[in-house]
Amino acid sequence: MIANPLEIPITDNHIHVDHINGIGPVKVAKQFYNVGGRVMIIPNKPSWSMGETFEFEKAMDLVISYCHEITQNTKVKAFPVVGVHPAEFSKLIESGKSLEDSYKRVKKALDYGKKLVEEKKAVGIGEIGRPHYEVNGEEMNYQNKILKYGLRLAKELDCPVQLHTESAEEEQFKEFASFADEINFNKKKLIKHYSGPYILEEENFGLTPSVMSGKDNIKKAIAKGDNFLMETDYLDELSRPGAVLGLKTVPKRTLDFLNKGIFTEEDAFKIHKDNIESIYGINTEID
Ligand SMILES: [Zn+2]
Repeated sequence: MIANPLEIPITDNHIHVDHINGIGPVKVAKQFYNVGGRVMIIPNKPSWSMGETFEFEKAMDLVISYCHEITQNTKVKAFPVVGVHPAEFSKLIESGKSLEDSYKRVKKALDYGKKLVEEKKAVGIGEIGRPHYEVNGEEMNYQNKILKYGLRLAKELDCPVQLHTESAEEEQFKEFASFADEINFNKKKLIKHYSGPYILEEENFGLTPSVMSGKDNIKKAIAKGDNFLMETDYLDELSRPGAVLGLKTVPKRTLDFLNKGIFTEEDAFKIHKDNIESIYGINTEID
């Protein structure tokens, strides 16, 4: 049986691969392809997952090489997104560095990420943003400064940003939208990773939600519109099975919802092709 007879470019907008702690890029991509997946947008993992804490640039280079491996060895198209996870900043401070020095270090890494996007080695900046755990006000100020710095770089490049933040509702979407508006950044290209079904303009304030692809979430999302992306945040870490959604979730959900008439064909192409291509400026076509 062909899993994806219409060849919809089914895209997981936030999926990780890790050959050190997980099954690695090629195995992930093959399993993803076999259930109908076609495109993977892959943000680099934090530096410590390589066992080389604070080697931010190396973590970015690594995800780029993972994407090459996938594209060369499988029929999946893989595109890297490069950034510095907000928890890296917390770790820099914990290591004894001052807030200002930590900020400088992260900025330098983001500048490197900018260069990678400029050279077309990566398609966006992320995940950057704010920690999902409590931090003090001083740190939070700096986390916001980093977020805004990343946004400015993306504005210069006209590339998308994947935001990692505390769990976001309308209030947070509104705040992030205001950050984008301050510099006239195209809010469609500001992607809220790990999003709930905040699909309506009055819920997301113009940002693009990358919706976690659990059944209920996607059902609620599609009932309101098709202006969203789908993701799993799969970690590819054997020691943390079930921490997030499995790598097959996006293709399986999409094809199941098509079968059940919850998605129309048009919905599926809008979510996986039109939205992805217009936000990232990439071609999802399988060649
Ligand atoms: Zn992630």
